[in-house]
Amino acid sequence: MSDVFDVVVVGGGPAGYAAALYGAAAGLDVALIEKSKLGGTCLHVGCIPAKELLETAAVFRTVSHASTFGVNTTPPTIDFSVTQTRKQSVIDMLTRGLAGLLKHRKVTVFDGIGSVTSTAATKTVAVTGGASGDVTVTANNLILAAGSVPRTIPGFDVDGTTIVTSDELLSLQQLPTSSAVIGGGAIGIEFASMMADLGTKVTVLEAMPKIIPGVDPDAARVVERSLKSRGIDIHTGVMVNGHETTATGKRVTFGDGQSVDVDLVVLSIGRRPFADLLGLPGVGVPVDDRGFVPVDAACRTGVPGVWAVGDLIATAQLAHVGFAEGMVAIRDILGEDPQPVDYFNVPWCIYCHPEVAFAGHTEASAKEAGYDVVTSTHKFNGNGRAMIVGETDGLVKVIAERGPDGRAGRMLGVHMVGPWVTEQLGQGYLAINWEATVDEVASFIQPHPTMSELFGETVMDLTGRALHG
Ligand code: FAD
Repeated sequence: MSDVFDVVVVGGGPAGYAAALYGAAAGLDVALIEKSKLGGTCLHVGCIPAKELLETAAVFRTVSHASTFGVNTTPPTIDFSVTQTRKQSVIDMLTRGLAGLLKHRKVTVFDGIGSVTSTAATKTVAVTGGASGDVTVTANNLILAAGSVPRTIPGFDVDGTTIVTSDELLSLQQLPTSSAVIGGGAIGIEFASMMADLGTKVTVLEAMPKIIPGVDPDAARVVERSLKSRGIDIHTGVMVNGHETTATGKRVTFGDGQSVDVDLVVLSIGRRPFADLLGLPGVGVPVDDRGFVPVDAACRTGVPGVWAVGDLIATAQLAHVGFAEGMVAIRDILGEDPQPVDYFNVPWCIYCHPEVAFAGHTEASAKEAGYDVVTSTHKFNGNGRAMIVGETDGLVKVIAERGPDGRAGRMLGVHMVGPWVTEQLGQGYLAINWEATVDEVASFIQPHPTMSELFGETVMDLTGRALHG
């Protein structure tokens, strides 16, 4: 262990551990400070547990419909404690894997709260309150990656049993009979979808006019229709006014005198950056009035030798965006003049049923940006693999720029909703970011029979010569 590290990273979530691993792979001597568990929100109370529970819901759905394949079963029941044990074992395996990887790359991990005490030429971070004891870590460069925590609503005190955020919901030992999910964004809709599939009566309350805002309306409509057909009540354009305790749970009041009685209230109204313990006011690193650390395109804070990445900065709150930012910061430290993250074109995936995946412009945003656009939409109900799997609800929509010859040219956006689309977005994402034309992408072969044939077909349609469509 050196006296002065090349880099010290505060926060061991995706953004911080990506910076640490990538820096160590490049030969830098790296220290990583984490106050809780390596892996951060994503691994312990975010992406991984949420997707694990959604997979339980998928298994339950599959078994419920098994008789349509001639596989006869008794109607499934759910033992949520087994579900939780399985979820935890996936988390534990990934956490051990991450710790092993950091060790293998010779990253020095400190267990404790990191508080920055100097941002002079040599940065110092005081570590306290954890298994590493009270130590001071010094380094030539500092990366802040303290992440985010759930937002709450004044008057809705989180008690872990009747009012929860994502942190508590993901560890419930039993699912509620009924639940109000406040917030119809990506995370709220994933929770609503999961709980409804496992038998909870769900009500979604969303202030915006639509659920999953930002998703192309054609795709969002498919999700909304599916959720409603599975018994979920969706109220959009409504403000939640408050709640009262009833004999059996909570009465949530919303809109113009409406109310719903539920066992569990789930607050899913977004996350706030968590600079609280970093000690930044004392060392000249700015924090804006929303709590974010302002940065430039290379994730520099403006204080020489100090970068900030991940949910701590005002960019898309996604684990893979944090990975990318962690790598940008390291490449900047190495003097490699990194390409900034192209935030507009990052991939987005929502793992509700049916799944949503997209990258690039929606039709509306492309038009707003001044593009003359051509679009093509194809539905999964004609796709052989989707029929085989028994999941034909969904579509692929491709948005392209109309070229001077009037034909579709560069691809601007790919939007998917339907079976396994989170695993199918890759080539759409690549096409958008490669600035590929529909002619170029259409010349590639899609394996048959696959669901990704629908992407190929939709792009081919834009060349003017579809095969099946
Ligand atoms: P975090 O993961 O929040 O990690 C920050 C770490 O810093 C924490 O471990 C914290 O303990 C530590 N820390 C904070 N302050 C200090 C300090 N002073 N000293 C030491 N340590 C400190 N994203 C996706 O891309 N895909 C998904 O499917 C997805 N699903 C999600 C589902 C849910 C329910 C939630 C809540 C989030 C989901 N996200 C998803 C978002 C994703 O989890 C976050 O974007 C990601 O975890 C942010 O990474 P980060 O490293 O910036 O911060």
